[in-house]
Amino acid sequence: MDTSGTPVWVRVALDVPLAGPFDYRAWQPVQIGLRVIVPFGRRQLIGVITALPAEPAVDPSVVRDVEQVLHDVPPMPADWLRLTGFAADYYQRPVGEVMLPALPGPLRKPSAYLGKRAGAGPVARSDVRAQKRKKADEVASAAVPKPCLNAEQQAAVDAIAARQGFSPVLLHGVTGSGKTEIYLRAVEQTLAQGRQALLLVPEINLTPQLQQVLVSRLQAIAGSHGVAVLHSGLAEGDRLAAWMQAVRGQARVVLGTRLALLTPLPELGLIVVDEEHDPSYKQQEGLRYSARDLAVWRAHDAGITVLLGSATPSLETWHHARNGRYLLLSLPTRAVSSTPPDIRLIDTRRLTLKEGMSPELTDAIGKRLEQGQQALIFLNRRGYSPVLNCTACGWVSGCTHCSTYMVVHRGKTGALLRCHHCGARERIPRACPDCGNQDLQPMGRGTQRVEEHLAELFPQARIARIDADSTRLKGSAERLFGQVHAGEVDILVGTQMVAKGHDFRNLGLVGVLNADAMLFSHDFRAPERLFAQLMQVAGRAGRHTGGSQVMIQTGYPEQAVYQALMRHDYVGFAAHGLAERESAGLPPFAHQALLTAESGELAQTLAFLSQAREVAEAAENQGQPPVLSDGLPCFPPPGTVTLYDPVPLRVVRVNNVERAQLLAESASRPALQAFLRAWLARLPALPGARRVRWQLEVDPLEI
Ligand code: ADP
Ligand code: ZN
Ligand code: ZN
Repeated sequence: MDTSGTPVWVRVALDVPLAGPFDYRAWQPVQIGLRVIVPFGRRQLIGVITALPAEPAVDPSVVRDVEQVLHDVPPMPADWLRLTGFAADYYQRPVGEVMLPALPGPLRKPSAYLGKRAGAGPVARSDVRAQKRKKADEVASAAVPKPCLNAEQQAAVDAIAARQGFSPVLLHGVTGSGKTEIYLRAVEQTLAQGRQALLLVPEINLTPQLQQVLVSRLQAIAGSHGVAVLHSGLAEGDRLAAWMQAVRGQARVVLGTRLALLTPLPELGLIVVDEEHDPSYKQQEGLRYSARDLAVWRAHDAGITVLLGSATPSLETWHHARNGRYLLLSLPTRAVSSTPPDIRLIDTRRLTLKEGMSPELTDAIGKRLEQGQQALIFLNRRGYSPVLNCTACGWVSGCTHCSTYMVVHRGKTGALLRCHHCGARERIPRACPDCGNQDLQPMGRGTQRVEEHLAELFPQARIARIDADSTRLKGSAERLFGQVHAGEVDILVGTQMVAKGHDFRNLGLVGVLNADAMLFSHDFRAPERLFAQLMQVAGRAGRHTGGSQVMIQTGYPEQAVYQALMRHDYVGFAAHGLAERESAGLPPFAHQALLTAESGELAQTLAFLSQAREVAEAAENQGQPPVLSDGLPCFPPPGTVTLYDPVPLRVVRVNNVERAQLLAESASRPALQAFLRAWLARLPALPGARRVRWQLEVDPLEI
């Protein structure tokens, strides 16, 4: 390294769980947004330059040198630095923990660069591969016919075209109302203005066929090389190639899952979030961000339109649409004229169920099969039965590592007990471990058992099961769905995996078993999620069969969620739900953050959370100047943030780790943010902090 010139100080974001800042000395020309390789302890790390400070934050004599400045990617643009900076601030994480994981893997590995000649490295290799591939698949994409829009669709497209500047739009339309058509027109308009469009969809690995249809449509608009697809199921090299296309502006449309939201896009003009209510937009580990929420922030920052679409919007989004912050566009009818399915509730209280199925449902399946139609049985529980039970002494198959039951599974090699939380497996005991009784019975039912029962009831029928177990092998989900579409399956049994996206042309009946289990979880969002899920499953049926039916078995038919489902009444359900949230002071009328801790002992876990609560409540500095003399940020005034009692998680022990949580809530988002900043700064010094692992989640989806 030439150290004869004048060095500059650079501040670097690194993916390490420390607050930083991390300052280095550079002898080479540098620029904010460039990646650098720097020494960190005994390791070398790749980081992103976030600032060129006049002075380092520490004594200059201990500042180390940047080892290499990487130029294979253009400097990360200013809007990307703002986006990641905002996310770090909002979710209370070091900025490097946001920036680096947002880059494709090879761009974060020093070993991909060290000791290589300049100009070599992952990007160069990827470009060579891309060139070859481009030649290979230089085929003109076939023209895909565009349907003529109906009046409602046209009105929505016109309304979107008329928007200028930052404009959040909620497109509310039932399944099959033609929302996708509107996304495509909006994308088309954006491209015509010479800008890029970002289209986010829920996890798509499970539905490659659907993705392919959408990609073809997008290619018809943007050209065969104008579309980049980004999701976590891609091989590293493919992800890098797609990412580079997007960053260089070659891709005019980026189609991807939540991680695609953090892609630098130099000419971004539109963001679409399809199925905006889908929980997969929330990352559940590391930086627990909501790609939907960040999409709205990014659109605001860029001054562009963000189009959120759903048949069952989240109540947060619906609230914004009701109070005018978002423009509400509605598509109340199906695009292809067909009657929506008839949704019926089967009150199971007065019925004798056989293997969990009511006589009505069984009859209905038989009738549909006679008519040559398909039936779908939806049950959100995989395995054979959720627990094994001793009929003599009441022993149940608990997991030794977790506070849950081991689930009975039937496999090719016989039955097994499996824990869905820690993955433990055991043979089925021949006799009760407590009393020696040999009559052990599976209690309750999962998809395997329902499949077995249906096979007995309808021996002629071809039955397929789609759940996480039957689709473990790569390609198996695709194959199973393909069989259903090809009409090679008469009855499909499945978990939520079958709820999404697919339009089964010949499906005449959907039966829902044990929906109540989803309703009576402790989470206040359970009814909302159940409504969305059942609407989605219902949407699989009846687009082409005419007069299709959905039967929901429940012991609580009077519950608002079921009544609303029966009437296909999202609007009424949302109004009811929001009124309840408002009177209970829950989101979107309050803002929440969840501190979760875990350790080997529950007492230890709870002790830490109690200390965390005390340090906040005892703080004498509440409502004082923003930064105190000891450098710690100040708490907001007393009473602005409520801290609840620490409570064990519903499944308290997983893999011998005992977990608990503490909820913080405030009517004011800025107050909550200020509180969290002050709070987090004090947690590491708590006496119990060394004995637990803890993490904070802002806007938790599940409580
Ligand atoms: P959504 O995304 O709202 O569930 P889709 O956009 O998938 O609905 O549309 C459902 C079906 O209706 C698709 O097969 C689509 O091609 C078709 N479709 C959409 N709009 C029209 C239209 N204006 N005329 C005819 N068919 C349409
Ligand atoms: Zn027993
Ligand atoms: Zn377990």
